[in-house]
Amino acid sequence: MSHEHRHEHGGTPQRPLTETELRVRALESLLTEKGLVDPKALDALIDTYETKVGPRNGARVVARAWVDPAYKARLLNDATAAIAELGYTGRQGEEMVVLENTPTVHNMVVCTLCSCYPWPVLGLPPVWYKSPPYRSRAVLDPRGVLGEFGVALPDGVEVRVWDSTSEVRYLVLPERPPGTEGMSEGELAALVTRDSMIGVARVAPPVRPAAGTPA
Ligand code: FE
Repeated sequence: MSHEHRHEHGGTPQRPLTETELRVRALESLLTEKGLVDPKALDALIDTYETKVGPRNGARVVARAWVDPAYKARLLNDATAAIAELGYTGRQGEEMVVLENTPTVHNMVVCTLCSCYPWPVLGLPPVWYKSPPYRSRAVLDPRGVLGEFGVALPDGVEVRVWDSTSEVRYLVLPERPPGTEGMSEGELAALVTRDSMIGVARVAPPVRPAAGTPA
């Protein structure tokens, strides 16, 4: 697997801090010391981007693809442009590729060298994504890793592991679960999890029947 990889972006520092990173850290320390910023408030802000704002964008992309075949075709053909149609652009998302999961193919995404991740659609990467065990084992034993995430794939399903680079970022288009036929785009988006878009989970069917289902 070839891996063109430059480490000019953020993530686990494996190099000296950049000028911007130094300034951010200096500002954070100063604001905290002066009592102007509560570190807990900063943590809450980061958590928002990690677990709420970011993945909700990707979920809207997935839901649109599920309900609009023409959009899905554009997404698979030129993901960067199709994602930009919904307004999601920016750093770490300049060159997007969307990978479609099907009953016979399961895609999962890793960055073996650091933590490359599609920020505009998924926000900041979770800690486990950046951890050395995930980065090595996703390649060596993808089925084992999927099992630990609670995903048991039948033997006939091909697992494809995609190694992110500083240029290309991947987003998995998970399978639309059964029992969602009457659901609106917004209701569908609410079902889509961050992990399903990294390819370490499937989207679970709704617990209750869709609100839009005719009585
Ligand atoms: Fe990386």
